[in-house]
Amino acid sequence: MLWLALGLLREGYPIRLTALQPTAELADRLPYPEPPETVLPQSKTAVLAVPTVGADGLLRTPTAPEPLSLQRCFSLLPQGALVLCGTLPAEIRAFADARQITVIDLLQRPELAELNAIATAEGAVALAMEQMSATLFDANCAVVGYGRCGSALCRRLAALGAHVTASARRPEQLARIYADGFTACPTARLSGKLSDCEVVFNTVPAPVLTAEILQRLSPGCILIELASAPGGIDRLAAAAAGLTVIDAPGLPGKVAPRTAGEHLQRVICDLLEEREDSH
Ligand code: NAP
Repeated sequence: MLWLALGLLREGYPIRLTALQPTAELADRLPYPEPPETVLPQSKTAVLAVPTVGADGLLRTPTAPEPLSLQRCFSLLPQGALVLCGTLPAEIRAFADARQITVIDLLQRPELAELNAIATAEGAVALAMEQMSATLFDANCAVVGYGRCGSALCRRLAALGAHVTASARRPEQLARIYADGFTACPTARLSGKLSDCEVVFNTVPAPVLTAEILQRLSPGCILIELASAPGGIDRLAAAAAGLTVIDAPGLPGKVAPRTAGEHLQRVICDLLEEREDSH
């Protein structure tokens, strides 16, 4: 979010910060944070953290001195404001509608998902390297799901010399996996097909890695969950099989915060320009 603020400032937007504490690296390039009560009522446009809701149900503001509830945040914004954020709970969406606040869910923008897949795939490779006692070169790896993150990850694993099996549910995606040079397997028929894998990455946000599949993995196999919570891995079955599951949410912001901020900035600037053109 700090890198995003810096990018927007460079683009000429008059940025003010609240509920966000600049790091030492960026402090001299960003405005000093102000209290939400000062900033929000005077803001026509607000960008909230992406993802927006923390594990505690509050606005995700890990660097802020005080927690801020989403309800409070939206009640401080003026009527008719524009909010750019991640996915919001239905009750907050309804509260925003009632106050005629326009909400744009940036995570629903396909161009951002495509850009985020780059850092997600790199971060997933880095995690696998950290966890494995062998190289990815010559390792058998599986990627469940062949969407934006899945396909980006397969290409990077293959570039490092891994043997890649990828799964999908649609015939055209299975054909694409084959055309891209990987071993294709329908997601519903993975049982028994991954027994020689050293690492399995899940990108499907639905319960696909079932007990039946997990029981047939080799004992040292590492599972990396990339899909949004609750993910696609049966945790109880994985624990019962003695398998290690690594949760890897929010990789772009963690492994490449500057790039993640720059990508958000690109998407937000395009959005704001589109809105200006249409008004
Ligand atoms: P995507 O392009 O939509 O790909 C999702 C894949 O899962 C597609 O192959 C899709 O198949 C498949 N799929 C969805 N529901 C399924 C089901 N019920 N059964 C079988 N296959 C199913 O999404 P993405 O951008 O790659 O993101 C994948 C997940 O990672 C999402 O949950 C996203 O929120 C998360 N994510 C995580 C990070 C991180 O840092 N960990 C970063 C970015 C995204 P179809 O095409 O047939 O629907």
